[in-house]
Amino acid sequence: MKSSKQTTGTVIAAYRSYTLIEGDDNQFYKCQQRKTIGQVVCGDLVNWQAEDQHAGVITSINERRTILQRPDINGNLRIIASNIDQVFIVVAHKPELNEGLIDRYLVAAENSHIKPVILLNKIDLLQEQQLEELKSRLSLYQDIGYPVIYTSAKQAHGLDSLIKVLNDNNNIFVGQSGVGKSSLINTILEDSNARIGEISEATGKGKHTTTTAYLYPLKQNQGHIIDSPGVREFGLVKLNEQEVAEGFIEFRPFIGYCKFRNCAHKNEPGCALLDAVKENKISQQRWDSYQRIIVSINENNH
Ligand code: GDP
Ligand code: ZN
Repeated sequence: MKSSKQTTGTVIAAYRSYTLIEGDDNQFYKCQQRKTIGQVVCGDLVNWQAEDQHAGVITSINERRTILQRPDINGNLRIIASNIDQVFIVVAHKPELNEGLIDRYLVAAENSHIKPVILLNKIDLLQEQQLEELKSRLSLYQDIGYPVIYTSAKQAHGLDSLIKVLNDNNNIFVGQSGVGKSSLINTILEDSNARIGEISEATGKGKHTTTTAYLYPLKQNQGHIIDSPGVREFGLVKLNEQEVAEGFIEFRPFIGYCKFRNCAHKNEPGCALLDAVKENKISQQRWDSYQRIIVSINENNH
């Protein structure tokens, strides 16, 4: 029996019949996996051994830093990608900027331990005054510690700084349909086309023939983009009230200081969170948004 040495690799895409990985030598390999190790997913760091020049066997999966889960058609949570470091919450003036939606993405990201970045796209379409108004609305998020960046996918504005922020991270792009996620991703990956061509050659599949999550290595630096329709549906999954509150990062210093241990943070006397709202330490807008999310998760639980 031929013995070959164990090396590490990254899962580019996990298909039903095989898994495509990128080895440490930056080559692509079609792999089978040992059944005992469980389902591998896009983004996994794996140990594997080569069987020939283009194929190998995955022998173990390293512990996942983060996971992205979505319910399948039966409502069971399924992991669709792993080791995502950063999520770009893409917004625009059209479809209209919706802070409630941003807050839901932020809560989902915080609970998955994925770092959020807010990205306002299509700035080429804005008059100076409109841009100022949107910047001022988004400054709320900067004040609580989130980076906000501005781009135009169409005019390649702000893309150099975006690419810098992508470096060394596995990144995903989320946001309403029409804000420009595909345009941004395609523009960034344009230069990486040769690389994606190589992948297609290794699999015999074009890059758009799959609904499986796919990890695209950037050519510009050590960053990766993970994308698929499922990844773009990133959102709240099965969180309880406590987790929603923790997902509002500026609430954290006050959580645990309410007079009553089981405080529901609605109208209880001595609620540390309500006091913080009154003292403008928590913005009324974010507070209202929190209350709306609580109502919506309780509706979904019934
Ligand atoms: P997605 O649904 O979020 O993936 O959005 P798309 O990338 O499909 O973009 C939706 C529409 O907005 C398309 O017609 C794009 O050409 C347009 N678009 C995307 N980014 C920009 C931008 O930065 N500026 C302008 N003017 N149009 C853009
Ligand atoms: Zn309270």
